Amino acid sequence: MAEAAPGPDVRKLLEEIKRNISWEGFQADRVEKTIQEALATLDSVKLHFLENCVGCAACAPSCPYYYVSEKYGPVEKAELARNIYRKEATILGKLLGPLLNAKKPKSEKDLDTIVEAVYRCTNCGACYVSCPFGIDSGAIIKSILASIATKSGRAPTLIAVFDVIEREKLFLKIPSFMYIWNEVMKKAEQALGKPLPFDKKGAEYFLLVNMADAMFYPDAVIGAMRVLDRAGVDWTLPSKPFAFRPPIAAVIGLFKQAREMLKMLNADISKYEPKNVVLLDGGFVYPWLRFQMPKVLGRRPSYRVLHIVELFEKLIKEGKLKLNQTDDKVTWHDPCQLARRGGVTEEPNFVLSAASKGFRKLPHHGAESYCCGGGGGIGCMNMEMLEQMGKLLGVSSKDLVAGEKELEFIQKTAEHWTIAVKRKIDDIKKSGADIVVTACPVCMHSIAGGAQLYGLKTQVRHIAAYIGERLQ
Ligand code: SF4
Ligand code: SF4
Repeated sequence: MAEAAPGPDVRKLLEEIKRNISWEGFQADRVEKTIQEALATLDSVKLHFLENCVGCAACAPSCPYYYVSEKYGPVEKAELARNIYRKEATILGKLLGPLLNAKKPKSEKDLDTIVEAVYRCTNCGACYVSCPFGIDSGAIIKSILASIATKSGRAPTLIAVFDVIEREKLFLKIPSFMYIWNEVMKKAEQALGKPLPFDKKGAEYFLLVNMADAMFYPDAVIGAMRVLDRAGVDWTLPSKPFAFRPPIAAVIGLFKQAREMLKMLNADISKYEPKNVVLLDGGFVYPWLRFQMPKVLGRRPSYRVLHIVELFEKLIKEGKLKLNQTDDKVTWHDPCQLARRGGVTEEPNFVLSAASKGFRKLPHHGAESYCCGGGGGIGCMNMEMLEQMGKLLGVSSKDLVAGEKELEFIQKTAEHWTIAVKRKIDDIKKSGADIVVTACPVCMHSIAGGAQLYGLKTQVRHIAAYIGERLQ
């Protein structure tokens, strides 16, 4: 990635953000306020999740962080939210308190335990799929507990920075970011051999390339464009990014801000009146744009949202996308947000079978797929990411942490990830695949890191990059 001189906004921005972050201490009033705000968001679905767990532990083995420690099992983590709920919202809890495990965080240690639960959960939904009562522990952890942690000050600084950069569109003013964007567009133009169809109104397909897409998988951005061009469909893309990785606020439990970001994004997209919006990102971006957008707007948006793999399937079936079939020993890793949370499980198998006779499913796939252990903000909590992002922002990696305690937390999180990713790597090993294809930047980073760690020589590719290289 390119380095650049620090933009004058970045240091000021960091100072402002860090004023709200406090990884040490316990501010009772602040914590209490965050609890009230989190409980005010309870609806009938969350109440079911909070009230009806029977503690059978059927969900435990599905969780990648259960293998780090039993204390990171789904129920153990979600129980921290239930304790608060019982204490605040049930009569018996109020009367009998600790006898019924009804309690609120009262100390720095209690708050630290909540923060650990939040960043030992990827919101992968595997516990939800395995629970006989349909209880989504991940949703409880990543909504109630994440919101309490962040609003109490325990936000990972790097993610908080990216949230502000996204919502204030500062990425447009950061020279290194725009350099990357312009370079990717230049290379895409060379690959297509003609000017890119920027900012067209009323196009059939609007390829929503976000800043993170250009940064993390430029070959996928170019691959997607090559496919659209070759398929001869009516398509366009924004000449400048609308967002970094929307809505990042959701990753750290700032849901009001996440909703505002979605409204802003919808306004930007709607100006171009596209019929379909196509995403490259199969991480949290997919369910937020596909399922949350209508809820946030109070109506269906005027366009349909689909992932690039869904479009590839459609184009192959229509005979518009023709591939040179290879013998690659290739497999598909289901990003949790695209597959388990989004229901896109069959399309990738169809597309990859068309691309290679050597396609094989992983032993655990679709709704049963193993999580890579990197989602939910965990992928940002390692030194490599801090150093890379520091270079891009023109600051040091230390500037992107709010003191020793956050740094220790990041190091511990990175260590725990090495255990959480292992199941996924073993599953890939069993498949005998040489290439793992997927569609989420975090999955790509996590699996590539895990493969290196456990001595597996497997390439990791984005589906759009892989398919873009197999056009007839
Ligand atoms: S499987 Fe469901 S009911 Fe059983 S412990 Fe997990 S969340 Fe509770
Ligand atoms: S959502 Fe995934 S990571 Fe979170 S508790 Fe459930 S299984 Fe574990």
